[in-house]
Amino acid sequence: MIVKLIQIDGELPNLALMKLAYHYKAIGAEVSFSHSVKRDLFEPVYDFVLASAIFQTSWKKIELLKDFYPNAIVGGTAVSKKREDTVENFLGIAPDYKYLDYSFYPEFEYSIGMTHLGCSSSCGFCCVGEKEGSNRPLSNINEIWRGEPYPKKLILLDNDFQNRLGWQSICQEIIDGNFEVAFIQGMNLRKLTDEHIDYFKQIKFRDKNFQKKRFYCAWDNEKDIKKIERGLHILEQANIQRSTVTPYFLCNYFRKGLTEDVWNRFLFMAERDLRPYAMIFEKWTLPPNDDLKIFQNWVNSHNAYANPTKEGFAEYKNYYQNKNKIYKEKQAELFI
Ligand code: SF4
Repeated sequence: MIVKLIQIDGELPNLALMKLAYHYKAIGAEVSFSHSVKRDLFEPVYDFVLASAIFQTSWKKIELLKDFYPNAIVGGTAVSKKREDTVENFLGIAPDYKYLDYSFYPEFEYSIGMTHLGCSSSCGFCCVGEKEGSNRPLSNINEIWRGEPYPKKLILLDNDFQNRLGWQSICQEIIDGNFEVAFIQGMNLRKLTDEHIDYFKQIKFRDKNFQKKRFYCAWDNEKDIKKIERGLHILEQANIQRSTVTPYFLCNYFRKGLTEDVWNRFLFMAERDLRPYAMIFEKWTLPPNDDLKIFQNWVNSHNAYANPTKEGFAEYKNYYQNKNKIYKEKQAELFI
């Protein structure tokens, strides 16, 4: 059997494709891998071409893939949010299959995985609850870490870690094993409790490149301000410095555009020395050079912290639009 796996988007190793690679190699198949959706002239005829796309913005690449491989099967949240559309169902194997093949990511030395699946909430803008169901344990740290000689650095894709049944024992495993950990999906600040303090005090929270201390979390709705304040207080008690806290910061969902709820949350966070990361819901619906897009650039590039005010943004917007104008003029000159 000859199988080709294609990762259409995403920077990190793709868990679904790693599971497929492990499974097909285990049954003796010849497996190849690519990030390109195009077919080379000398490629063989495959029994299966299996691709994964996470982002809805990847639709053009998916169409191109289908031109080159009309029988390709494409999975991932970009194409389906149905709970039954899993690698395990496709392969007809036991649910919550954990084996991963890292061989197509030779540069990646960390260990990646999830200690649980699902989420106890069902936010309208998010597909985790719909796709994965309610929060339930999946793996412990010992199952996720690849072992020696790999570094004790874990990227955990948990979406609702603080509510996982037995989160305490997972924290203890992280602490006892002296792991560094990047919870890159973000912790739910609203649901932290005093019980988290002692565990979090001892955990080495890191950014996704393991270069800096970083605690990822989220603040989606302005109305949660009291709960967010309480969550921040818990982090403070756990000795997690404000400047190392990155709340993912949803915009354009409850109200469209660069609205007051975006400003209120940003100013609140900037005053407290947090480093939010602005995320725009359905960004592709906004016109080019929309204020919210420029605002996102200002915040996520950290240019905002020189003068985190509306006046500071006005200055940046001016600079940004001029820079784009000059760039376009230079591009036009090149083609004269
Ligand atoms: S809490 Fe987070 S993971 Fe859960 S449904 Fe809401 S946004 Fe999604």
